[in-house]
Amino acid sequence: MTASNRLRIAIQKSGRLSEESQKLLKKCGVKFTVNEQRLIAHADNMPIDLLRVRDDDIPGLVMDGVVDLGIIGENVLEEEEIERQSLGMPSEYQKLKQLDFGGCRLSLAVPKEFAYQDAYSLEGLRIATSYPNLLRRFMQNKGISFRSCLLKGSVEVAPRAGLADGICDLVSTGATLEANGLYETEVIYRSMACIIQSQQTQSQEKQLLIDTLMSRINGVIRARGSKYILLHAPVDALEQVVALLPGAENPTVLPLKNDSSRVAVHAVSSEDLFWDTMEQLTALGASSILVMPIEKMMG
Ligand code: ATP
Ligand code: MG
Repeated sequence: MTASNRLRIAIQKSGRLSEESQKLLKKCGVKFTVNEQRLIAHADNMPIDLLRVRDDDIPGLVMDGVVDLGIIGENVLEEEEIERQSLGMPSEYQKLKQLDFGGCRLSLAVPKEFAYQDAYSLEGLRIATSYPNLLRRFMQNKGISFRSCLLKGSVEVAPRAGLADGICDLVSTGATLEANGLYETEVIYRSMACIIQSQQTQSQEKQLLIDTLMSRINGVIRARGSKYILLHAPVDALEQVVALLPGAENPTVLPLKNDSSRVAVHAVSSEDLFWDTMEQLTALGASSILVMPIEKMMG
């Protein structure tokens, strides 16, 4: 690929990260339409090209400087980093931010009938996984030797098929493990999606665009985790009411027409307000409580 003035961002073509990755960029004001047949989607309003690829390819594209940014699961990123380090290939990147989606865990699991006490129960046994490097790092740190069975898919059927004694695989609900007669014994790695940048020289224009994009991403993520709260509260209970609103130390307090014993409180809360907090607020005499989503945040 030749050098381009357009910022290249690699995202997963289709899979668990693709929808959220596209949604995040769109929320940041990047306008694009994805054509399922095409590898590249050009943004209409910014000098940005999206490269839609298998998630496994994203860390390497960033580390080799083929793209400027990538959105990827930390599990795939660290697996690739360890792999490349062992092969002496370029493995540098800068993690710009952990994102608020793609959460999962990489866990050890064994058949129901396996008498598992701790990870040492796996000493000398064969473990099937798609993440040999993360598994080896975990086992080496504990000083446990094991034999590995590398499978890129269908890891969960390996024990039943007689290929391995246990597995090391991504888990979210545990339903797939259950369906295959396995149970989770140990979490070895917790992962979220993240955005990474190539260490290769960037033009100043590209760096400025990356900075703008990151400030917007920060704004989108902060807004998603925050709520705008409006309520009426008795003046006497104002301090207790405000203390119940997470992260809203400096609310706006406004007088109410024809009622000097009550005020209107407007606040941005750093968390959602749960029903039990709403009930506590009501018990303090608060009324007309509104909890509203925030679209964007800056500054
Ligand atoms: P590709 O075709 O791009 O290689 P894939 O099949 O390898 O896709 P997906 O199943 O789409 O990958 O998962 C992509 C990433 O989503 C995972 O590497 C992980 O970071 C994250 N993820 C979030 N929740 C889960 C889950 N429950 N199971 C598996 N991965 C999850
Ligand atoms: Mg993959």
